[in-house]
Amino acid sequence: MISRRKLVLGLAGAAGVAALSRARCPGPPRDPAARRALKLPIAPSGWPFPGARVVAPAAVFPSDFGVRRIYLDPGHGAPGNAGNVSCFCVEEQDFTLSAAHALAERLNATGRFEARVGRTADRPVRYQERAEDAARWRAEAFVSLHSDVRGRIETWSPAPGRTCPFNLAAPGFAVLWSDEGEPALCARRLALARAFARRMAEAGLMPYRGASYRGLYEPDSAQAGVFVDRHPPGQRIFVLRRPTMPSVLIETHHALDAREAARWTEPATLDAFAAATAAALADTVGRGNAVAETLGGGDAPASRPPT
Ligand SMILES: [Zn+2]
Repeated sequence: MISRRKLVLGLAGAAGVAALSRARCPGPPRDPAARRALKLPIAPSGWPFPGARVVAPAAVFPSDFGVRRIYLDPGHGAPGNAGNVSCFCVEEQDFTLSAAHALAERLNATGRFEARVGRTADRPVRYQERAEDAARWRAEAFVSLHSDVRGRIETWSPAPGRTCPFNLAAPGFAVLWSDEGEPALCARRLALARAFARRMAEAGLMPYRGASYRGLYEPDSAQAGVFVDRHPPGQRIFVLRRPTMPSVLIETHHALDAREAARWTEPATLDAFAAATAAALADTVGRGNAVAETLGGGDAPASRPPT
């Protein structure tokens, strides 16, 4: 929880901005003005502050795991759909493409996965096309990467002449899934979603509590950070219900939170997330319904509202 207390971050804020200057993602501020101390509400400790450690969870691969095909969907980059604009004025479609390549490199380096990135920056790609591509390629999991926007939007100026949206009240990751469709596939989606959230938390990332999700997503009864799509029928997320293999959508962080956006440009965060992803996939891919049943997959999500 974010405390109401206001403190000057000082070195912590400067360290975060310095990390941005090493970023691969486009648009980080490099000017001295962006390095000034920021008056920010501060959490007691831990993610997403610069001193909070992230670690790489250890994957446990079954002996017959082999090499598994994983489809990485860089969210947005679809016709007329660039996604959100971050607190550093980076378009979501650019962040997700960069994050997907970083993840693919790391997964492929394990020798356990063949990861395919579902689009390039050359042209917009419809989500239907991505789902068809994943099926043709016989992917065993479909992982859609995004960043989220939550809460009341304020503005700040991370660089001279640049005004970007800003909000520090709702950090954290969320893993979304759909219970729409064939029950066995739904159970495998839920198992994958829970494994992702469990392993991301183990990596030191913070699950979002879901306060702004009321009416849109419902929290899981068993795993913090997991939410099932509750948009009205016809408005539900395509990549959660359409792929023929288990699919999840990872809201990696809150795009308007300067602390999280900075940390998601750091190699240490990308390393930890890739290790969490490998561990989650090792926990679930190829294990079929056995894992889903072990995890209680297919249960109706809790009906209680988010807390
Ligand atoms: Zn998105």
